[in-house]
Amino acid sequence: MTSVITSRARHVAVIGLGAAGLVAVRELRREGHTVIGFEREKHVGGLWVYTDRVEPDSLSVDPDRTIVHSSIYQSLRTNLPRECMGYSDFPFVTRSSDGDPRRYPDHREVLMYLQDFAKEFKIEDMIRFETEVLCVEPSPENNRKWRVQFKSSSGVSGEDIFDAVVVCNGHFTEPRLAHIPGIESWPGKQIHSHNYRIPDPFKDQVVIVIGSQASGNDISTDIATIAKEVHISSKMVASDSYGCYDNLRIHPTIYRAREDGSVVFRNGKVVFADAIVHCTGYKYHFPFLKTSGYVTVEDNRVGPLYKHVFPPALAPGISFIGLPFMGLQFFMFEIQSKWVASVLSGRVKLPAEDKMMEEAIAFYSKLEGLGIPKRYTHFLTDPRGNPMLGTFKPEDAVVISQSDYFNWIAKQCGCTSIERWRERLYNVAIKKVFFGGDSYRDRWDDDQLIEEVYREFAKLKP
Ligand code: FAD
Repeated sequence: MTSVITSRARHVAVIGLGAAGLVAVRELRREGHTVIGFEREKHVGGLWVYTDRVEPDSLSVDPDRTIVHSSIYQSLRTNLPRECMGYSDFPFVTRSSDGDPRRYPDHREVLMYLQDFAKEFKIEDMIRFETEVLCVEPSPENNRKWRVQFKSSSGVSGEDIFDAVVVCNGHFTEPRLAHIPGIESWPGKQIHSHNYRIPDPFKDQVVIVIGSQASGNDISTDIATIAKEVHISSKMVASDSYGCYDNLRIHPTIYRAREDGSVVFRNGKVVFADAIVHCTGYKYHFPFLKTSGYVTVEDNRVGPLYKHVFPPALAPGISFIGLPFMGLQFFMFEIQSKWVASVLSGRVKLPAEDKMMEEAIAFYSKLEGLGIPKRYTHFLTDPRGNPMLGTFKPEDAVVISQSDYFNWIAKQCGCTSIERWRERLYNVAIKKVFFGGDSYRDRWDDDQLIEEVYREFAKLKP
């Protein structure tokens, strides 16, 4: 592994050792910084560490509940082909004989990949496991530094002072719920997808699944294998049936729920249901971060932030890795980490605080001008390939295109941007998620491109 000698080595805390934190630790150390990673759980991998455990409150609304971090279900397979999911220099190829060799592997294979990454780059040596960060605030002695207070699972508390804190705590743990008029007196069972693991509790039941994005699609087909009927409530209704499941129907959004157990959809259809599964996404949540209002979360916009990473008033001491969603996540974590590492060492300069603020405000105004709600601020993808953004014009891509974003960061820190093959694979893959039907993971026709990709992988040093 190469390490560069930098002008200023910093002492940096990384909060959370999922896919974002792991690569952040590696890039920070490569740049010459000293790093301590704090991880609440016993293992690296974050979201990809499957557990049967769920939270006691099935909608996860109680702020004092015991948190279960992971939101993945037992049947989960990746929604992108493995070749484009991995970090740039550590391809996500088949791991071992006891893994899952499929192109869209199950969650265990992703965890194995992340564990292998941690081992390869000796990242675990720098992690304090089973240690939850409780508070991050300016140091009382020197407000250019940050005090991190933490507590281990055995109850031992402590604190350390850092030059910078990189926040990688994930954003798929704090559920978001749709407002349904009348739901308070609806008598059925409700859960959020965060607490969904297996379909068995829904055997022979009539179930409504709200949401038809990746998790909504997966969970509704999972439940359809065992339930009497599954009704998906979707903002993007194309037809009223779904794939090869006779017991699965698609409806528009819900108009209201009633005391007699019925649910009325906006097309006037009425369904008497036993359960509602809310696949309605998650909220950004930083309970440990005390910034005196310099960073807020409003309608799921974390801001103000310069390019989704640095809060202008606190940069570069506080940074966020992994806020944008929907795109090539691991690649994005890596390139954002390179930027943060190089800014902290002084190798790359940020604009002055007021310039960063101006840029953030101009970005938010542009979103507003396009009619994009705040909650889509961190939606980073290629809108030309994404039906959720189907009403936008191609020129709007400049606001939210992930490739433009990666290219911009790469230029800042002088690193390689997204490979052409990765971009091509992703653009095909994201369309399949929405239009490829329920077997999209097992059908493809890009053999030639895959050959090219594996030739590129072979050029990487072992
Ligand atoms: P996480 O993996 O959530 O890691 C955050 C870590 O921070 C956790 O280990 C947690 O324990 C720790 N932590 C949190 N708070 C604290 C604290 N206070 N103190 C200490 N530690 C703390 N992406 C893809 O690329 N492909 C897919 O197929 C795919 N499928 C997905 C399926 C589902 C159901 C979901 C919800 C997401 C999926 N994603 C997928 C996106 C996923 O977000 C990323 O792949 C990625 O794994 C997220 O990594 P992360 O490090 O940002 O967060």
